[in-house]
Formats: sequence, C-alpha cells, structure tokens
Amino acid sequence: MRILLIEDEREIAEFIIRGLRAERFAVDWTSTGEEGLGWAKVNDYDVGVFDVKLPGMSGIDVCRALRERKKEFPIIMLSVTSDAITKVGALNAGADDYLSKPFFMAELLARMRALLRREHRTINPILRIADLVLDVASHTVQRGKKNIRLNRKEFSLLEYMMRHAGTTLTRGMILEHVWDMNADPFTNTVDVHIRFLRQKIDEGHNIKLIKTVHGYGYKIEV
Ligand code: CA
Repeated sequence: MRILLIEDEREIAEFIIRGLRAERFAVDWTSTGEEGLGWAKVNDYDVGVFDVKLPGMSGIDVCRALRERKKEFPIIMLSVTSDAITKVGALNAGADDYLSKPFFMAELLARMRALLRREHRTINPILRIADLVLDVASHTVQRGKKNIRLNRKEFSLLEYMMRHAGTTLTRGMILEHVWDMNADPFTNTVDVHIRFLRQKIDEGHNIKLIKTVHGYGYKIEV
C-alpha cells in the first residue's frame, strides 16, 4: 500500500511517516500541495493523507483537483481546526475522512484501514492461496504448518501479490505499490526481492506458487 502524505510541518510529517512505515506502508512525503498534486497525477496511490493548511495550495484544493481528474483513491484530511466549516469544506471537496490534530497514530491507521476496507481491498485480513496463509493483522505467514519469517519489504510484496492472485503484475506495478518513489526503477530490486520470497515460500515444495510470466512480470497462483 502506497501513501501520499502532504504535510508542511516536518515534525508531524516525520511522526506520521514513522508510524506508516512501521505498518509496512510505502510513503511519499511532500510539504506542498502543488507537488503532491503533481505526484498524484503520475503515481497510483492507495490512500492520501493531506494537511488542510499548507503554504500555497491547501489540502482541500488538492483534494478537489484530484476528484475533478477522477482520481478516486481515499483521502483523509488533517487539520488543527475542528470547526464544522473546515470539516464540511473538506468533505465537500471529496475527502473521505477528517482527523483533528493532535491525533494518535493508532487512530489514523484505524481510519485508513476502514477506508481501505470500504474500497474492498482489505475485507479479509487473512489471505490464502493453496496452503500459503498470510495474516495481515498479526503480520504472520505460514506455508502448510511451517511459519515463514519475512522482512517488511518481503511481507508487503507477498501481500500485494496475494491480493491480486492470478493476475500478472509487471515490475512497474509492483514498484508502484510496494516501494516509495525513492526506488530506482532501473535496478532489479523487484527481481531480487522475488528471488528471496521464492526461497522462503516455494523452496522444498512441489507446488511453486510464485510464477514468472516471461516478458511481463510475476504472479502468484496455484
Ligand atoms: Ca499545516
């Protein structure tokens, strides 16, 4: 899951980034609405977290501009003001939720998950393919009776692939959703992580779940 964070206060931004990365979200952070809007036009985000008051274009303006361009990913607005006018303005601009500062990270995460559920992306926190089971809530993976230890990136990669089981995912799609914008698209970072994942998931099993689709990318299926 890749998040677009627009927040001009560095301390708050760092607090949010730490919290999101700890939960294995990839985060692109900018302090201006203009830059955030530019990124959202070219990247495929899963959730937006926008501060209302920014130096130039406000978070509400960014939200409205994205909705006009039919960018429909869920957006949560953040603001120090909890007055009804700002809230209504944010919701009317197409925001899905509103959170007053200060807030607890747990609340932001819970609201993000609720929005993602509504998007039918995380209806079931347990993903299964054959005897491979990934539990999003407890961060655990099992193949058969064996527990598999994955690092954060491997877990995110496997979760993304399992959510799109049976679909061929290009390296670009994988980079877009599992890595943040600092990932270098010209390196073989996806292939390297797939190789590690294969060693942990498929090695020693007759049925290999991770498939290479030559010329396109990868998919997971029975
Ligand atoms: Ca601000």
